[in-house]
Amino acid sequence: MTKTLTILGGGESGIGAALLAKAKGYEVFVSDFGKIKSNYKADLERAGIEFEEGKHSEKRVLKSDLVIKSPGIPDKAPLVKALRDHGNLIISEIEFASKYTSAKLIGITGTNGKTTTAMLTYHLLKEGGFNVGLAGNIGQSFARQVLEQDFDWYVLELSSFQLDDSYEMKLDIAVLLNVTPDHLDRYHYDFEKYLASKLRIFELLHPGGDAIYWMDDPHIGKNITGFTRDLSVHTYTLSRDAAEISFIQNDRLFCVPDIEVSAPRAGISIKGFHNLLNATAAGNAALLAGVKADDLVKALGTFKNAPHRLEPVRKLEQVEYINDSKATNVDSVYYALGAFDTPIVWIAGGIDKGNDYSLIEALVQDKVKALICLGKDNSKLWTAFENIVPVVKATNDLIKAVRMAKELAEPGDTVLMAPACASFDLFNSYEDRGEQYKKAVLAL
Ligand code: ADP
Repeated sequence: MTKTLTILGGGESGIGAALLAKAKGYEVFVSDFGKIKSNYKADLERAGIEFEEGKHSEKRVLKSDLVIKSPGIPDKAPLVKALRDHGNLIISEIEFASKYTSAKLIGITGTNGKTTTAMLTYHLLKEGGFNVGLAGNIGQSFARQVLEQDFDWYVLELSSFQLDDSYEMKLDIAVLLNVTPDHLDRYHYDFEKYLASKLRIFELLHPGGDAIYWMDDPHIGKNITGFTRDLSVHTYTLSRDAAEISFIQNDRLFCVPDIEVSAPRAGISIKGFHNLLNATAAGNAALLAGVKADDLVKALGTFKNAPHRLEPVRKLEQVEYINDSKATNVDSVYYALGAFDTPIVWIAGGIDKGNDYSLIEALVQDKVKALICLGKDNSKLWTAFENIVPVVKATNDLIKAVRMAKELAEPGDTVLMAPACASFDLFNSYEDRGEQYKKAVLAL
């Protein structure tokens, strides 16, 4: 009998899943509480897939044999609750697509650095001559690529929400970059739950699979036992102090100790301590996948990161303007501030996600000469830093913020937009915020 499958959420992952499921013989229904983009509707119509938008027909959805949920839909959504109470099986698009490919899979997760590390790992494999695809939270959905492509390897960027709804997927290599408080609204404000969700990436490895994690993360190491049984575990660490056990010593980057690969730090295209960590993680994964050392070292120098991540915009009157719009939490701002040796004019603000600014107080005091709060409600940021930063200003207009920054910056300074907040008070998305910032900077 034909199995019925409902897909909740008609975005990139939902549409990919719908197309793949249809091709595999499911009776597919896509239901989106919001609007579905016209190009996705065209995809569905072409494939003869039924869909609805602006509502969920609960009765129909509850009758489905299988439900695929977009990672954007929280568990507290009434329909998801109803499905769970009713006993329907809910899985992620990644889990579903993984059933239909025999490609080897590298999964990458962490609070910060997923996109950079996934893109870099993909780049290292591609430059190493592998037939590889990049999917997950990034670009074309995994399901669509499984349907249309024939890759031998995939690098998957995995959010905790995708991990939560994955059960039988089998990864060959899994990377856990770091875990710091974020998205707690989706985990009953319980950090332990969020941490457990991230650690589950290791439960999704094949027996004997390669688990890679950052040794210095204060939370991962302490809680890892129980998640890594039957696995081949590789840790990496990064220190400027040669006396420590470290893959980075004497300014060189080492990956996987028994392979003894090193790459000169200066030859790595992405900057900042956090990006060296990401490069070490990606390098480890690539070497374990079989990329040759020479190819790896070369490729580390030619990688270009996605926009809005410590992206250099322009140098004007000896002031460097940087767009780090993707820095939407305190931890990423910590690394962004640390990536510069110059005084910083810092543009921050937006929608606060429960930020604890005390974590970056000392660093801000050390590096930031002026703070421009850019948001509808700037009170929290203002209060946190008014006694720490010599000059604090506030506006809800990005063009004004950029002009203020120009006034305050002197030759040799860096103007850094790293908001520590979500963008939705003034912008459509972090991408929109970054694009508007770049435009304003280029118009100076
Ligand atoms: P994600 O996909 O996990 O959001 P990105 O690579 O898009 O990660 O980077 C998001 C933000 O986090 C950027 O501002 C970036 O500068 C910062 N960041 C990147 N890697 C790390 C890391 N390893 N630790 C902390 N912050 C990081």
